[in-house]
Amino acid sequence: MKKTPGKDPAFRLTPQRAGILRFLDGNKSHPSAEDIYARLRRKFPGMSFATVYNTLQSLLALGGLTEVKIDGARARFDPDTKPHSHLMCVSCGAIADLPAPRGLRPAGAPSGFKVLRCNVEFYGVCRACAPAAKKEKTSCQKKKRK
Ligand SMILES: [Zn+2]
Ligand SMILES: [Zn+2]
Repeated sequence: MKKTPGKDPAFRLTPQRAGILRFLDGNKSHPSAEDIYARLRRKFPGMSFATVYNTLQSLLALGGLTEVKIDGARARFDPDTKPHSHLMCVSCGAIADLPAPRGLRPAGAPSGFKVLRCNVEFYGVCRACAPAAKKEKTSCQKKKRK
């Protein structure tokens, strides 16, 4: 994990930082630094991208935030620091949470290998990005009852 030289060891809570914390609190969209900046600059017109970036780095160092690396294009951030997995739509970049797999022993693991944790990442296309998938006939449709 990268460490930023502690510019603000006490994490001074400026109004802008408080705004970033409020935006992240309970946020399940796994925003990037750019997303956060775009959302909050309307409220804090004087805020710089560096403020967002540095605040995120401080939160990461403090353990109040997790960096999700599922999106190869940009770092995404998750205020939920409990272990869990993710799935991402490769078309729109939406990321959803999945419960962490537990006690999963991967096929092919060398004997005697003790699994401590597991982080599974699924890539696919969400419903909104694949309208054709909605119309696709599935066997479920045959089960319709009246
Ligand atoms: Zn999508
Ligand atoms: Zn998550």
